[in-house]
Amino acid sequence: MSQWGDGTRSAHAGLPPAQPGQPFLPGPVFAAPYHLDPRQGPGAAPNGYGRPDNPTRRLLEAAIGELEGGDCRVFASGQAAITALLLAVLRPGDTVLLPADGYYPVRAFATETLKGFGVHVTFVPTAGPYPSFDGVRLVLLETPSNPGLDVADVPALAAAAHAAGALVAVDNTTATPLGQRPLDLGADAVVASGTKALTGHSDLLLGYVATRAAGLLDPVTSWRTMTGGVPGAFDCWLAHRSLATVDLRLARQTANAEAVARLLAGRPDVTGVRWPGLPDDPSYPVAAAQMRRLPGVLGFDLGDPDRVARFLDASRLVAAATSFGGLHTSADRRAQWGDDTTPGFVRLSCGIEDPADLVADMTAALDASAA
Ligand SMILES: *Cc1c(COP(=O)(O)O)cnc(C)c1O
Repeated sequence: MSQWGDGTRSAHAGLPPAQPGQPFLPGPVFAAPYHLDPRQGPGAAPNGYGRPDNPTRRLLEAAIGELEGGDCRVFASGQAAITALLLAVLRPGDTVLLPADGYYPVRAFATETLKGFGVHVTFVPTAGPYPSFDGVRLVLLETPSNPGLDVADVPALAAAAHAAGALVAVDNTTATPLGQRPLDLGADAVVASGTKALTGHSDLLLGYVATRAAGLLDPVTSWRTMTGGVPGAFDCWLAHRSLATVDLRLARQTANAEAVARLLAGRPDVTGVRWPGLPDDPSYPVAAAQMRRLPGVLGFDLGDPDRVARFLDASRLVAAATSFGGLHTSADRRAQWGDDTTPGFVRLSCGIEDPADLVADMTAALDASAA
C-alpha cells in the first residue's frame, strides 16, 4: 500500500481482506482467556491469553505499522510505550540522551527512575547543540518537541549516533506518521502517544513503539507481556476506527494552524509565536526538509496567567484543556502543570473547525482579553 496517498492508506490501514457478511473493521474481541485446544493447548491457535494476544489489538498494530513503515506494538498510553523502550534497552551503566525540552513526564521518569537504576541521563535541547555520541547507548529525539516546537535534524543526528554505535528513537507524537516517517529518516525506533492527533477524538489513551529491527521489537514485546501495559480491546477498536480519518483531520488542523499562526504573528499584543510552518520560525528549514506535513499545534505567549484566563473566558471555540490533536481547538497554559515554560505561554491545538470561524473567534477573544 506504500504507493497510495495518505488518505487511501489511512482509510485502509490494517483492515482484513474483504469477506461477504463481515464488517470492514471487525468489532472488538473482548477476551481475557480464549478456548484452548484440549490436546495441543495454546500452541494450536494465535490466541491463548489476553495480555499477549488480542486480535483487535493486532489489527491496530498492523495499521499503525503500515503508516510508520515498521512493526508496531501498542501500549496502554504513550508513557507506557516510551518507558517500555527505555527500560527494555537500557542497562545500568548505559548513557541515554534525552530532550531537555521534551515531554515533561519522560524527563521526570528519567530523573526519578532511570537514574536510580544506574543509567546516566544527559539532557540536550532539541534545537541543539548536540554533544558527541561516544559512549551513548540510546538517543531519544522528540521532534517537533512538545511544547516548544523545536525541531531536530533526524537524518544528520541518526548518522552521527550510528557512527558512534548509539541507537536512535524518535518521539513522533506531534508529527504523527503522516507528518514524518522517522524510520525512513534513519531512526531505529519510533515511540509515540496515540492519544493525541493520531486518534484525535480526545476519548482514549494509547501509545506505541514501531521499528524494523527484530533486536528491538522482541525485547519490547517481551517487556510488554511481562509488565502488562496493554490497551483494552475497545480502545484499540476505537483507535483503529479513528485512524481512518487521520489524513482529513490533520489537513484541517494544519490549515487552521497556518491561519492562526498568521493571525498571532501579526498582533503586537502576542509574543513568542512558534509554528514550524512560519518561514521565519527557527524550526522552518529542518521541518521543511524532513516533515511531510506540519502540525496543528502552535505556541505563543500572552504575558501573564490572567490574560490567558480572560482569553479563554472570551473565546467560544477555544476550550481550556491539556493534551492536543483533538477535533476541538484547545489551549493549555503549560506552566500550570509545573512545566518550565513562561507563565503566559500557551500551547494551542487547532481542531477541525472552519478556519474563518476560528480566526474570527480568536481575534475577538484576544481583543477582549487585552482590554
Ligand atoms: C502526550 C505525550 C506523551 C505521553 O503520552 P500519553 O498517551 O499521555 O501517555 C509522550 N510524548 C509526547 C511528545 C506527548 O505529547
